[in-house]
Amino acid sequence: MNLRIHCSRVGSIALLFLLLAGAEADARVAKVAADPIPDALWAYMQGRSWRAELRCPGRDELVLLRVPYRDFDGASQTGSLIVARSVAKAVATAFQDIYDSGKFRIYRMSLIDEFGGDDARSMAANNTSAFNCRTTDRGAMSRHAYGMAVDINPVQNPYREGNLTEPEAGRAYDEPSKRRRDIVGIIVDGDVVTRAFARQGWRWGGHWKRSVDYQHFSNDGH
Ligand SMILES: [Zn+2]
Repeated sequence: MNLRIHCSRVGSIALLFLLLAGAEADARVAKVAADPIPDALWAYMQGRSWRAELRCPGRDELVLLRVPYRDFDGASQTGSLIVARSVAKAVATAFQDIYDSGKFRIYRMSLIDEFGGDDARSMAANNTSAFNCRTTDRGAMSRHAYGMAVDINPVQNPYREGNLTEPEAGRAYDEPSKRRRDIVGIIVDGDVVTRAFARQGWRWGGHWKRSVDYQHFSNDGH
């Protein structure tokens, strides 16, 4: 809907009402929101994304973002991400820029707790996620463990190391010759996604040399 055409003769108060009433449906006014972790969610996270046996961040160090995105059908959706409070503004701004561009689609954005905190299951479901207090394959704390990394559309943007590609469905997109810019949900150098995170000083796993992690953005490049 073009508001200027439809609303040119209504007063400013009526226009404001229209904007507010249409806030959920109108893509242009959807904004990222950040909130403390609610009690019920914190309880749900225990033993899923938050693990007592690891040195995970405290509840006050994390925030829940409600993130507008366009799904693979182009419909506006609101997803959930948990990130570190210290990077919440950077992540929120990056996803706001991506949404406002209207040029990128995200398959799904549910908390990884809905997959039992299991990264493999979340990736297989092509889920976009952030906080997960876990170690890497090498046993080090992942940047996700601190809420300082984001994975986007893991199927179109898989992790690749030697013969290993995760998730399995990502094999269709796991080397440069397969990564055509016109594939829905794919992240390529210089697109709206890499530029949005670069503006926040975040770095992309698609630039890694030994292994490559096309889905991964982090504040420190790890
Ligand atoms: Zn990652």
